[in-house]
Amino acid sequence: MNPLDATTAVPASSMPSAGGDPVPVPAFHVMMKPRGAICNLDCKYCYFLAKEDLYPGSGFRMSDDLLEEYTRQYIEAQQVPEVTFAWQGGEPTLMGLEFFRKAVEYQKKHQKPDTRIYNSLQTNGTLLDADWCRFFHENDFLIGLSLDGPRALHDAYRVDKGGKPTFDTVMGAAEMMQASEVEFNILTTVHAANGEHPLEVYRFLRDVVKTRFLQFIPIVELDNDTGYQEGNEVTDRSVTGKQYGRFLVRIFDEWVRRDVGKMYVQIFDVSLAAWSGQSPGLCIFMETCGDALALEHNGDLYACDHYVEPDYLLGNITEIPMMEMVLSEQQRAFGQAKLDTLPQYCLSCDVRFICNGGCPKNRIITTPDGEPGLNYLCEGYKAFFHHIDGPMRFMANELRHRRAPANVMTYIRRQEAELRRQRAFKSAGRNDPCPCGSGLKYKRCHGR
Ligand code: SF4
Ligand code: SF4
Repeated sequence: MNPLDATTAVPASSMPSAGGDPVPVPAFHVMMKPRGAICNLDCKYCYFLAKEDLYPGSGFRMSDDLLEEYTRQYIEAQQVPEVTFAWQGGEPTLMGLEFFRKAVEYQKKHQKPDTRIYNSLQTNGTLLDADWCRFFHENDFLIGLSLDGPRALHDAYRVDKGGKPTFDTVMGAAEMMQASEVEFNILTTVHAANGEHPLEVYRFLRDVVKTRFLQFIPIVELDNDTGYQEGNEVTDRSVTGKQYGRFLVRIFDEWVRRDVGKMYVQIFDVSLAAWSGQSPGLCIFMETCGDALALEHNGDLYACDHYVEPDYLLGNITEIPMMEMVLSEQQRAFGQAKLDTLPQYCLSCDVRFICNGGCPKNRIITTPDGEPGLNYLCEGYKAFFHHIDGPMRFMANELRHRRAPANVMTYIRRQEAELRRQRAFKSAGRNDPCPCGSGLKYKRCHGR
């Protein structure tokens, strides 16, 4: 699976309407799939490969004319100072380097004064070489590399079309990018194979791959023949809610004791934003969605990367201006439904301020009192968000007082030392050395 599950939200701005009243313009985000669902790998849990069936007979290649049209419309529609082009798939590097050189050319041609343009590209890494790396470095591309952990955990599901493992090639890509100073982060999916190995995964990424930016995306793969968001059975490759929560908790416990300020784990950063009273900035945890769309190779615009299916097709950008589709009733209703369909169980949940019920695509189970629409990952989310509450409150308070959240590591060390001390006093025998370190027997010192 290549596509990033979530997007960064940016503040909305406004533009004048025909009637003179300002109409809020969402700062939206588009995941662009210039090669559609085509990929050179056959990752067993990929939700996007089946989308090839939507376009029978297609060559699955975005034309140069469409690329320029998209670039022009996308830049024009953004009312914010920073515009990010997000390249996804399938595998976007199958378009070849020349396509991306043109993409950058068109971006420069249509760039508005006082705007900055960024590019992010999610890849399986298998086609990267020195030329790609030079290009990424020279053009400041931020690369997301898909890697599911050490060899056995990665190769469990990430195989090529012949079923062969891909670990060595992906590791080669990471090394090449490091050598060429390409900025990259690692996207790790959490599934049945690696779900019970959180620390093995985390330490491998930190100590062997030596990356500092991580995302852990849960695999919740619906078991149906269409590849659409239908049904409520999941495949046995999916992570369970409980497992996902435990996975995050174990990594958080290591991170919060030694890696704060050194390692950046997306869900920890997002949580800190929420605990600090800010927007979580990630669509899955926002109250509503609808500002993270997906564009197919032929210009078809869909409501979301996870809803590339006929019912969520908004239109084609060669026929309807992109902005019109983003602002359409259909798309706003799609985004609002995320809030409107939240079960009572979520509405009264104490971690709703960060969770907001999670992504609608995963709302396939019922609440304990039988209401449908609960997130499949609820148990894990709840456990994780409850577990991090103390440290998050501490870090949010540090931020409020303009101090480093990394102070949490000292705070926890002290708290734990104090706990150990109290336990030692409790369990000390009369003739044991006193835990205070005086050298006296306990009965002659604190035990007197
Ligand atoms: S359905 Fe909404 S929350 Fe889920 S990935 Fe799409 S935009 Fe994000
Ligand atoms: S933790 Fe569960 S109950 Fe609470 S908001 Fe999230 S999905 Fe709903």
